[in-house]
Amino acid sequence: NKYSAEDVLRISKERGVEFIHLQFSDIFGVMKNVSIPIEELDKALNNEIMFDGSSIDGFVRIEESDMYLRPDTDTFVIFPWRTTSGVEARLICDIYNPDGTPFEGDPRYILKKNLEEAKKLGYTMNVGPECEFYLFLTDEKGNPTTITQDAAGYFDMAPVDLGESARKEMVSTLKEMGFAIEASHHEVGPGQHEIDFKYDDALATADNVMTFKMVVRIIAQKHGLHATFMPKPVYGIAGSGMHLNQSLMKNSENAFYDPSDQMGLSKDCYYYIGGLLKHAKALTSITNPTVNSYKRLVSGFEAPVYIAWSGRNRSPLIRIPAKRGNSTRIELRSPDPSNNPYLALACSLAAGLDGIKNKIMPPPSVDKNIYEMDENELKELNIEKLPDSLEEALVILEKDEVIKNALGEHIYNKYVEAKWSEWDSYRTYVTRWEIDQYLTKF
Ligand code: ADP
Ligand code: MG
Ligand code: MG
Ligand code: MG
Ligand code: MG
Repeated sequence: NKYSAEDVLRISKERGVEFIHLQFSDIFGVMKNVSIPIEELDKALNNEIMFDGSSIDGFVRIEESDMYLRPDTDTFVIFPWRTTSGVEARLICDIYNPDGTPFEGDPRYILKKNLEEAKKLGYTMNVGPECEFYLFLTDEKGNPTTITQDAAGYFDMAPVDLGESARKEMVSTLKEMGFAIEASHHEVGPGQHEIDFKYDDALATADNVMTFKMVVRIIAQKHGLHATFMPKPVYGIAGSGMHLNQSLMKNSENAFYDPSDQMGLSKDCYYYIGGLLKHAKALTSITNPTVNSYKRLVSGFEAPVYIAWSGRNRSPLIRIPAKRGNSTRIELRSPDPSNNPYLALACSLAAGLDGIKNKIMPPPSVDKNIYEMDENELKELNIEKLPDSLEEALVILEKDEVIKNALGEHIYNKYVEAKWSEWDSYRTYVTRWEIDQYLTKF
């Protein structure tokens, strides 16, 4: 373990920390905060801080609203930026019921539970995410627009490249907070960026994704920009994904690597792919959780549309990056950054483990460009499509016991209820597109 409770207390005192943010995630992956002054830190580390669970989306009803926060001391970080209230730090917390049992509605607990399942079979999970996002200009009132500085640049509105300098500061801030940044670059869309950090065990990575989004938003704001992880903010321009590079370890070795195999992949790796492909449709309801997610999953923008895997091609759902040995991994390319990273990883793992447990061999890899195939070819190779909409994904989720089980009853019920109402609200809304198409035509 990185830090004990004593370490946290001592370092906080040494560094003059004045406020601690106790952080956790609601079922949609939105970060929640209970802030305490330094005087309360001792109490927090004794797991004595309570909050009202009924105030959080998808948690509990008023009658059962007392929840306890248990800080994970390994997640202790002092924010490198100054705030008006002085030095601040954070601790990511697990949520417990008053009777001392873990709360089933805590997504972090759900990931831990699935990691326990893997452990029983001898596996640990490593994940490296690739988070893409857009940086948009804000207007005179400080409200976000969908205008990028790249586009504005053509009109000479801003003399410096705001986006590039914001991204540089994001990288240096993340580094100060302990992230190992592997790469950062401008993405294909105007105003679109990607910052990649090094893989870690699944729980640390899910925590990191939460922290990452917070830092990106804060630093963007400092530069007068709005950072968005919305999957497809502008029609006709590449959406933002969050590829999830995944591997399993067994006995401290990469369980996906087998030098004696033709592709250098182990049986476990093939089965894991088989499981992901089998559950791909239901999994999409979790990895791509918004109405807008499905506007990214269309052809022409490097986002996956078809359920297939490949060792070469960049278009299918699962790609096998060329590196072998310890770097052997599969890359799931459907997820987008509007998902809850705890649930996305929990469900990916459950799908992959189902493949391992039931020895689900995937169909042969597809090394041809799927987008160039016609209907007949697709049918012959039995290549199906990912869900077209949140609605389709939700209908399939209801029939997938493996993914439902991975979520647990509490989260499954709350999630599905909320997502159906989101779908219904969208389904009945009259959009700009309809006005443009029909108002004068009829
Ligand atoms: P791409 O080629 O798709 O752009 P990147 O180089 O941007 O991929 O990202 C690769 C990600 O995969 C990084 O987060 C990296 O740390 C991660 N990664 C590397 N090795 C492993 C592994 N064995 N298991 C899981 N993730 C890994
Ligand atoms: Mg990348
Ligand atoms: Mg790369
Ligand atoms: Mg990218
Ligand atoms: Mg990638």
